[in-house]
Amino acid sequence: ATPTAVMVATGKGASLGVLIKGGDALEKSHKVKTVVFDKTGTLTRGKPSVVSAVLFSSYSMKEFCDMAAAAEANSEHPIAKAVVEYTKRLRQKFGSNAAEHLPKAKDFEVHTGAGVSGTVGGKRVLVGNRKLMRTFDVAFGHEVEDYVSENEQQARTCVLVAIGGKIAGAFAVTDPVKPEAARVVSFLHSMGISSIMVTGDNWATAEAISKEVGIQSVFAETDPLGKADKIKDLQAKGTTVAMVGDGINDSPALVAADVGMAIGAGTDVAIEAADIVLIKSNLEDVITAIHLSRKTMSRIR
Ligand code: ADP
Ligand code: MG
Repeated sequence: ATPTAVMVATGKGASLGVLIKGGDALEKSHKVKTVVFDKTGTLTRGKPSVVSAVLFSSYSMKEFCDMAAAAEANSEHPIAKAVVEYTKRLRQKFGSNAAEHLPKAKDFEVHTGAGVSGTVGGKRVLVGNRKLMRTFDVAFGHEVEDYVSENEQQARTCVLVAIGGKIAGAFAVTDPVKPEAARVVSFLHSMGISSIMVTGDNWATAEAISKEVGIQSVFAETDPLGKADKIKDLQAKGTTVAMVGDGINDSPALVAADVGMAIGAGTDVAIEAADIVLIKSNLEDVITAIHLSRKTMSRIR
């Protein structure tokens, strides 16, 4: 495209809330054949909340929640925020004195794609998924398995909590899909563009969400580099790929893609890694960007 055409299109994009960082991104977008979507915060609202808590030990619900929240208080993960929020509400319900602070966690550590760990009141607390429990050799029985699979089939993510090496309880967390997600996937399909989902979350939850939005091809339990590898596999087959993501964990994939698109409400790292920023965080703007590119490129040919 001519410099003028690029300027006109990027200006038009900006006015629509689609920030295109250069001519290259604009020119490549019209060739996109596959859009890879991250799940959490991209297809879903990214504002998860706890819908249920269950005890698998003799701790009281308040003790249990306080210890889990103490460990999660140090994490930026949306799931961590949901656990802390739930604990706050529970404390209010039981009329806890506001001056009574959450216990503090020591030796806090983040385990990317798995959860967090810390020491609370002299006890080791682990909060995260099954992978985290396996890493720390925490065993769990049928009761826990059943709770987890029941919730995962309903598109909920389970957060397991181990205290002192034993499962103490769990939270079920829900993160609803964005209202426009299914519409966008089906519209892309009508444009001859296929959609794929990649996520660090577990397979059962991932499949339940993908069914809701109409995506048939899913890759779950994928770490950040695994997401990028998925993109490279598609490119090796000659496909022009766009990646849409919001998290730090999406940045390698955003860089690897022919066109990286970041959700405006996402992390700074993702926004920096992307070629296009969807300022309004609305998935419809994936289509806006591709349309803009198609229009610009057809004008020159
Ligand atoms: P996604 O790719 O869906 O954005 P992440 O890679 O951030 O997901 O995390 C993958 C999974 O690891 C989460 O679904 C959750 O089960 C677990 N996890 C990560 N961080 C935390 C945390 N702070 N607390 C609880 N669970 C966590
Ligand atoms: Mg995400």
